[in-house]
Amino acid sequence: MTNLTNYHSHCLYCDGRANMEDFIRFAISEGFTSYGISSHAPLPFSTAWTMEWDRMEDYLSEFARLKEKFADKIELAVGLEIDYLNEDSNPAFFRFQELPLDYRIGSVHMLYSPEGKIVDIDTPADTFRQLVDKHFGGDLDYVVHLYYKNLLRMVELGGFDIVGHADKMHYNASCYRPGLLDEPWYDTFVRSYFTAIAERGYIVEVNTKSYYELGTFYPNERYFSFLKELGVRVQVNSDAHYPERINNGRAEALAALKKAGFETVVEWHHGRWEDMRIGSVSFV
Ligand SMILES: [Zn+2]
Ligand SMILES: [Zn+2]
Repeated sequence: MTNLTNYHSHCLYCDGRANMEDFIRFAISEGFTSYGISSHAPLPFSTAWTMEWDRMEDYLSEFARLKEKFADKIELAVGLEIDYLNEDSNPAFFRFQELPLDYRIGSVHMLYSPEGKIVDIDTPADTFRQLVDKHFGGDLDYVVHLYYKNLLRMVELGGFDIVGHADKMHYNASCYRPGLLDEPWYDTFVRSYFTAIAERGYIVEVNTKSYYELGTFYPNERYFSFLKELGVRVQVNSDAHYPERINNGRAEALAALKKAGFETVVEWHHGRWEDMRIGSVSFV
């Protein structure tokens, strides 16, 4: 197996279910050549799923210890998955920029309701439906527009390397209103967002977290050939919260990328992002 890498990974510093070391040990046992840790970055308030600032030093020193310990077995990189919440809390925030990280993932998980309430929309589909009805008056178009508006603003502000699960809301929004992805306005909207990503040169991850459960990647496979046309560099990440899931959907994603015309994916080697040929993909 080739292209055994993953750079989107959560551990006990945020909402992952095992120690940082457990993920790295599992990656080594699976034959991974490089691996990245990306806990949820602190927000201006406490949540059950993000790291607190007072844990940052421990996070970085634990990573440094493991990097040295496993130096002859695997190349390790440390990052954070940073939310775009608003103009003050986003990947470009100086406190995130000051940190000695190898890379940063930019993501949107939360939106402000018209009443100013912060709503976590990265939920199961039935919860999403309830949230849209309760906080946004059932106006799905408003929610979809707001989600991509925030993502676009994050792309404009910069300060990160990888766009995290670029269109993740598409699954929940399509459950709310089947056929949404085929509505011309939605397609045009999402394509202009990917064009903005391409113009600024970000890496787009193919996030496989839900592939086995829901049968979709983020972004949806229907955009892969468009991303190729735009010249966007891609990588396959599992967004794993459990060590045994770090390899989930990777072979399927690589095969889908190949089918869309991609010949390379971006991997971390020699302390930098490198374009690596997609090798023979086998489903084991
Ligand atoms: Zn995320
Ligand atoms: Zn994540």
